[in-house]
Amino acid sequence: MDSVTVRVPAKVNLQLAVGPLREDGYHDLVNVFHAVSLFDEVTAAAETGMSVRVEGESADQVPEDGDNLAIRAAVALARHAGRSYGVSLAIRKAIPVAGGMAGGSADAAAALVACNELWGLGLPLDDLMEIAADLGSDVPFALLGGTAVGTGRGERLAPLEVGGTFHWVFALADGGLSTAKVYAECDRIRAADGLPVPEPRAAEPLLAALHAGDAEALGAQLTNDLQPAALRLRPSLAATLEAGRAHGALGALVSGSGPTCAFLAASAEHAEELAAALRGAGVARELLTAHGQVPGPAVV
Ligand code: ATP
Repeated sequence: MDSVTVRVPAKVNLQLAVGPLREDGYHDLVNVFHAVSLFDEVTAAAETGMSVRVEGESADQVPEDGDNLAIRAAVALARHAGRSYGVSLAIRKAIPVAGGMAGGSADAAAALVACNELWGLGLPLDDLMEIAADLGSDVPFALLGGTAVGTGRGERLAPLEVGGTFHWVFALADGGLSTAKVYAECDRIRAADGLPVPEPRAAEPLLAALHAGDAEALGAQLTNDLQPAALRLRPSLAATLEAGRAHGALGALVSGSGPTCAFLAASAEHAEELAAALRGAGVARELLTAHGQVPGPAVV
């Protein structure tokens, strides 16, 4: 086999509950991940060394060296297999970079699947999941796809059954937000408030809405504990969220650490209308529509 191409979806967090700051600097999270039909493509081709090139959406902001998460994934897989494999990776990005939609994690998951195939390793998903957890807390979900509750740092996953398809509009912003900076801002806001921070818990009404495929109920349950911090760092997002609500979104929230905003629509048609209205309102760099849930990385 000369090359393998894998298509991998972005995620949106339907609930992101952030617990108190732990001694090790991390937070316990409850993270309801939902994979949506916005895809990066990673092609792995046989080569002696390791290399990566990136094209597409904001490609200039993605490293083309050993810092690239997809290359780190390939290196980790080769190490796990105990062999000095090589690969050249070509990433075609559509997932916004540093947008809170786990694009880097998606590319890492896609690289694991592609190299597992290219190198003929035949490793089972469980082995890939272990490697994924070491690469970053969003990588295991990126490997799984669908909808799942993540606990711990987000890496312990329980898949959820979802009773229907949900239709989304994503408002892309100019420039990204650093996940680390958003968490730090969240800690600062909480320290200033001085209120106790509860242990994170999955919201039962949200899980029920997902199970029932009830978009209206789901829209009312979308929450993100990082949203106040993202809004503090990027105040213009408040107007973006407000415009979505004003134009009839069933729910509106900042995706993960932002700055992408996610809006839930009642149908595919409603999503197109909402995207057009938000385009007209001039509150985002670009508006995209997508649906979820979708499966994880797949060889194409
Ligand atoms: P999350 O939702 O997991 O917090 P994000 O979607 O906000 O992540 P990413 O798009 O994953 O952010 O990018 C975060 C940083 O990682 C970027 O600044 C980018 O330079 C770096 N990075 C490394 N590899 C990649 C990759 N393959 N694709 C995108 N970004 C990458």
